[in-house]
Amino acid sequence: MIIRGIQKDLLCLLLQMGRESHPNEFVALIRERDGIMDEVNLLPGTVGREDSASLMYDMMPLDTHVAGSVHSHPNGVLLPSDADVSFFPRTGRYHLIIGYPYRKQDWRCFTADGKPCKLEVVG
Ligand SMILES: [Zn+2]
Repeated sequence: MIIRGIQKDLLCLLLQMGRESHPNEFVALIRERDGIMDEVNLLPGTVGREDSASLMYDMMPLDTHVAGSVHSHPNGVLLPSDADVSFFPRTGRYHLIIGYPYRKQDWRCFTADGKPCKLEVVG
């Protein structure tokens, strides 16, 4: 599965979720259709939890259309932490980090090995 882009509406929604969760983190799964990220799936019990990454792993659906994950960094750092890099490979291949102050450019995508990855915003 190659992800080429993300729906603009989805990106706006993710940034809004970041704002609403602030100062807590939120974490969710991202689904794709035809190589475009187009849906966010919140998993019960994961919002604003300190160890949401491990909890999310336990609740991962068996679903080939899961592209990866999204989570927020309330400190505004748009880079994966060491913990992020160890959890990325368990939840898919593409991972979004959105950061304070959650403006439309305050996000990055990374592949499961923690390397930056370009995504086109579509729609
Ligand atoms: Zn993180």
